[in-house]
Amino acid sequence: VRENKTGSFKVGSVSGIPINIHITFILLLAYLIFGGRGQTALIDTIFILLVFGCVLIHELAHALVAKRFGIRTKKITLYPIGGLASIAETPEARQEVLISLAGPIANLLIAALIYLTMGLPELNIFTDIFSHGMGTRLFLTNIWLALFNMIPALPMDGGRVLRASLNILGVHAVTNITTGIGIFVSVLFAIGGVYSGEVMLFLMSFVVFVSSVQEFFQAEGRIIATSLKVRDAMVPKERVESFLHGTTVAAAISRSLTSWQPFFPVTTGNSVIGVVSRTTISDQAAINKDEYLSEFMTRDFVLLEADAPLKDALDSGAANELPIAIVVHNGEYVGVLAYDIVTDLLIVEEMRRKISQEEREREARNDNEGEDPTAL
Ligand SMILES: [Zn+2]
Repeated sequence: VRENKTGSFKVGSVSGIPINIHITFILLLAYLIFGGRGQTALIDTIFILLVFGCVLIHELAHALVAKRFGIRTKKITLYPIGGLASIAETPEARQEVLISLAGPIANLLIAALIYLTMGLPELNIFTDIFSHGMGTRLFLTNIWLALFNMIPALPMDGGRVLRASLNILGVHAVTNITTGIGIFVSVLFAIGGVYSGEVMLFLMSFVVFVSSVQEFFQAEGRIIATSLKVRDAMVPKERVESFLHGTTVAAAISRSLTSWQPFFPVTTGNSVIGVVSRTTISDQAAINKDEYLSEFMTRDFVLLEADAPLKDALDSGAANELPIAIVVHNGEYVGVLAYDIVTDLLIVEEMRRKISQEEREREARNDNEGEDPTAL
């Protein structure tokens, strides 16, 4: 078990997809086990574990459909309020609808399976689920998971289905509509929270609000990122310090310490074979100074094609462990892309476009005034 930078622990993997559990989920289990509810604590703990099994199946359903479209799932993380499947690239609208629907459908299938095998005495989904036996509890939970996830607001699956469907239908102002509905839903959650006193509803209200506003600001960035290329954001290799394959730690240390770069490509001929961080070089200098850098470099880095849309870089950045990607053209190393620069570049580009649009509008007004004789 190893903690990664997001506060999650890897607990295993299913068909190559790492399954992570967020630290807060372990705290929730600890609270249930040691929280002192006596006999029911064990049953509650088993129930919570089974619910998370269902959430995991929900996420795996997303991953499975994504895989059918050739889209890799980088990891699945389970939080106390649900799961998250991080897929490596943005799917097309039609694919997104199917990928998003797969999760809730999986929960409905589980519910159907429980119904068929156990039968149910009572089907009122508004009763307190903790007053029932395990089968009924799980049945109701899966119905709730399906319904809850189909609420048409981000970050729920329903929000993705709504956004992708509007795009397919060619509706204008998709972002305004999805953000508007998202804020409406977050207000409903908050009102529900006030009336019921459920802390979870306030939490969801906040999560939905933040996601909706974020979507509003990210959408414009995505449009700009589609028209720019990876080449526009990269640092060309002439301005990147790199080390030749075969360089020892001792030979690299002084150059790495006087460089601004936190990461260095390790090259052979015209290609990059790995990436090594300045921290790694410093750490190894004390103990392994005569070893080759290639012993300590990471070979698992992202390659981007220089002429690919910058949007691809954003998509790969979300799933990348390193803060940089190596840029290639015709198979040859041409530069390095730092992900944090991409965000800054998009803000600058957005400002530049707004300014030039205002100038065009001003010129258009001036032209009109010139042509209109009554303007004098
Ligand atoms: Zn889902």
